[in-house]
This record gives sequence, structure tokens and C-alpha cells, in this order.
Amino acid sequence: MVTKMMSTPALQPKPYDTTHDPLVTPGPGHNQDYAPTYWVATAGPPPADDGPIMRDMDVDVAVIGSGYTGLACAIFLAQEHGISATVLEANRVSWGCSSRNGGQAQIAFGRLTRSQWIERWGVDIARAMHDEVCEAFATFEGLIRDIDCEPQPGGHLYVAHRPKAMKRLEAEAAVLRDVFNYKVELLDREAVRRNYVDDRDAAGAIHEPHGTGVHAVKLAYGYLSKARRLGATVHPASPIVGWETRNGTHFLRTPGGIVRARAVAIATGGYSGQTLHASLRNRYFPILSNSIVTRPLTSGEKAACNFLTNEVITDTRTLRFYYRKLPDDRVQIGSRSAITGADADNPRHLQLLIDRLHCKFPPLQGIDIDYSWWGWVDVSHDMMPRIAQPDARERVFYALGYGGNGVMYAAQAGRRMAEKIAGKADRHELPIFSSPLPGHPLAPFRRLGQRVLYHWYHLRDEIL
Ligand SMILES: Cc1cc2nc3c(=O)[nH]c(=O)nc-3n(C[C@H](O)[C@H](O)[C@H](O)COP(=O)(O)OP(=O)(O)OC[C@H]3O[C@@H](n4cnc5c(N)ncnc54)[C@H](O)[C@@H]3O)c2cc1C
Repeated sequence: MVTKMMSTPALQPKPYDTTHDPLVTPGPGHNQDYAPTYWVATAGPPPADDGPIMRDMDVDVAVIGSGYTGLACAIFLAQEHGISATVLEANRVSWGCSSRNGGQAQIAFGRLTRSQWIERWGVDIARAMHDEVCEAFATFEGLIRDIDCEPQPGGHLYVAHRPKAMKRLEAEAAVLRDVFNYKVELLDREAVRRNYVDDRDAAGAIHEPHGTGVHAVKLAYGYLSKARRLGATVHPASPIVGWETRNGTHFLRTPGGIVRARAVAIATGGYSGQTLHASLRNRYFPILSNSIVTRPLTSGEKAACNFLTNEVITDTRTLRFYYRKLPDDRVQIGSRSAITGADADNPRHLQLLIDRLHCKFPPLQGIDIDYSWWGWVDVSHDMMPRIAQPDARERVFYALGYGGNGVMYAAQAGRRMAEKIAGKADRHELPIFSSPLPGHPLAPFRRLGQRVLYHWYHLRDEIL
């Protein structure tokens, strides 16, 4: 039984820094409040945690970061390997992307399509990756079975945003069926509009049978409670501000004390920064994504948009939009955002989402937007995640690079990282487990490249 020590609200968190930028700000902050998301506003009071680190301590496994990955790792370390982890979080529990996402659990990790997997690794490895992602979805479903996170199951609608994109979708559907034996349904424009939603962008869609919408923060709170019930401790307001390794012991310095750990799991996602650990420097690229939530739709508005489905939806743009109707009849829509933290609150990024909402659903012109927020997504340089031990001589592990697809996969990534820590990784042969995150030859110029690429993607998505 875990002793209740303290819950975060008693700590009076500092205001959330809207300009936070992992490539510029030295660390993720200290005891910051949550971003003002719909999820935080509607999740109810947070469950108890273990309060900040207040003294030096010795632990077996320290997990840095208390998002879905860190908490899932702690859950599986306890459940499958009998190891009680100590989770260290800089701010409030799940302060990063895990309290800011779209709550869309899809059968995906990274940003590559199945055809691109085949091009990169050949059919056999691509099939093994597909098995992994299917198993991951089952892991996720198993984990949320007893968590009240408002699951909206039914599948994922992958919408062609114009006729040209439908050709690509048809080809991908054939690959999914013929190579992976994965039964997707192809829908034409009328079928999408009649049976799911009257999205005026839609030129057709693929319907994938896997897909569940969840309440992002209720999910995080559920993971938190589950991890503690199993014997892990979770310490908010405990950023790692220094890290030394001597004779195999890791000395993790927090403002309240030093945590000496025999193994360290890094689960810091897009908030990892540049200085936490040498193995991560320039090994991932943080990209801003933003999201809005409308007021609840009236029954007239729902009928005018024929919004019949609560399934999760994304479109085929490279700078894709993701959207859905929430259980309380609000619409959430999100997409890419600013390049830098300093520009994140520029109203034009909010306007981009509002304009697309109106384009897709003209009856929602002028609807009130009740919530707007953003967060830093971890994109790897080859668009695929890694769950790795970057140096076999050191008991340091990481799981990140999900490319904006971590709601579902973080559960499995946490599980795989737990297996590595426990020395049970003999079946980790896939490239995402057996190689580290690749670097980037022109790391200092990545943001310049990103600006150029965003213009190019916009041209390719909308005009060419
Ligand atoms: C707007 C938005 C929409 C998204 N929508 C979706 C979606 O619909 N579907 C989907 O699959 N994915 C989505 N994502 C991505 C998804 O949220 C992430 O992939 C997932 O939450 C990653 O979880 P994580 O635990 O790895 O990282 P995070 O949840 O980001 O947690 C990392 C934590 O590490 C902490 N940390 C960092 N450095 C330190 C340190 N030095 N010391 C202590 N703690 C530290 C941070 O404070 C943070 O809380 C979205 C992301 C955003 C921003």
C-alpha cells in the first residue's frame, strides 16, 4: 500500500510559460501549472501523487517524465517485473503532451505509412512492425479497460482532403489489405458525408477498424493512480537539473535532493531539451502542434454538419488536421502551429485552425472557441520512434520520437522500455528497438529547413 504524501495543487504551481521552447529554454521548468486545455478543465481533481523530492534517496529505477510513457513504464515495471520505479516530473503530473493532445488513439507510431515501411525495410520487417503496432493497440486497450477516460471506440477515419489524395489512399488501402491482411474499408465522398460526417474537404476516406478517442487527462490521471497502486512513486515539481554518473550509479539532481539510481528511463518526449543527456542532444526535433475546442454544438448544428460519428478523424495533408466530436458534442480540431515558442501565441496559428474548421463545416462559421492550447511533439529525424539503450555500457534507456502519435503507442513503448530495464529484451529485434535515434547533419539549421518545408508542404497539400 502506498502512503499518500502530497497532491500537487497544495504546491501552488507557477503559471504556465506560453513561450516555452525545448531548443531554447534550458529545461522544462519547475512546478509549472498545466496548459489551459479542455482536458484539464474537465478532468476533475487530480488524484494524489507523492509530492516533490525533498531529500536525497537511493532508488532502483528512476523514470524521468510523468507523461503516458513514463507512467506506463512504471506500471509495467511493477506489473510484469516486480520493480517499483520512482517517477520524477519537472512540473505537474503529465504536464507535457500527455495533457495537451487530441486524445486520438490510432494504430500508428511515427509518421511513415505502411508502404514507406516496406520501402525502408522490406516486407518481412514491415509485417513484423505491423504485428508490433497491433499488439501495442491491444496493450493500450488492456491498460484503459479499468480507467474512466471516456473511450469512444469504433475506428479511425482517414480522410482524403482532395480527389488527388484519394488515389494515394486507394493504393495504401490495397497495401494494407494485400500485404498486411489488415481489413480497411474504402469510402467514397458520399459514404463519408452520409454515414459519418459532412466534412466538405472530404473526397473519400479509409476506415480503419482500430481507433479510439479518449479524454487525455483522465487517461493520464488513470495511469498515475494505477502506477501508484502498483507501488511506484510519482514526484511532481522535481526537475532533473544535473546528472552525473559514477561507478554505474546515476546521480540525478533535483531542487529538493539527489536521486541515486541504478537505472534511468528517459520519458521526456518533446520536452527533453538539449542538455538532459548526451544521447538525446540533436536526436529529435520538437515541433509545435495546437488544438482548439468549440462550445457544444446544438442539435441543429449537429444535423447541419451531419455529425453522426464520434470516431477519431485525420486528413491526408502532410500538415494534417485531426478532429472529432467529443462526447459532450464539442468539436476539437488541431494541426501544426508556430515554429518557435516565442511565436506560439501569435493569433494567426489559432486562425489557421478556425479557418479550417469553417471550411470543413460551414454551418459552424462564427462558433465560439472555448479552449485553445499547444504543445511540443517529439519527431525523430527518420520519422520513427525508438525505444533504446543508446550505450550498452550504461543503464540508461529512452522511449521517444512518436511524431505526434503517442496516445496509443506510449503504453507499449513504456512496456518495451520496462522489458529492456528488466533485462527481458531478447525479442527486441525490430529497428525501433535495436538502433538509437539518428542525428541530423545540419542540426543548427533545422528550424530554417522547417520554415522552407512548411511552405513546400502547404503548396503540395493545397495547390499542386
Ligand atoms: C496539441 C497536441 C495534439 C496531439 N494529439 C495527439 C493525438 O490525437 N494522438 C496521438 O497519438 N498523439 C497526439 N499527440 C502526441 C502525444 O500527446 C504524445 O506523443 C504523448 O503524449 C507523449 O507522451 P510522453 O509521455 O512520451 O511525453 P510527454 O507527455 O510530453 O511527457 C514528458 C514529460 O517529461 C517532463 N520532463 C521533461 N524534462 C524533464 C526533466 N529534466 N526532469 C523531469 N521531468 C522532465 C515534462 O515536464 C513532461 O511532463 C499530440 C500532441 C500535442 C501537443
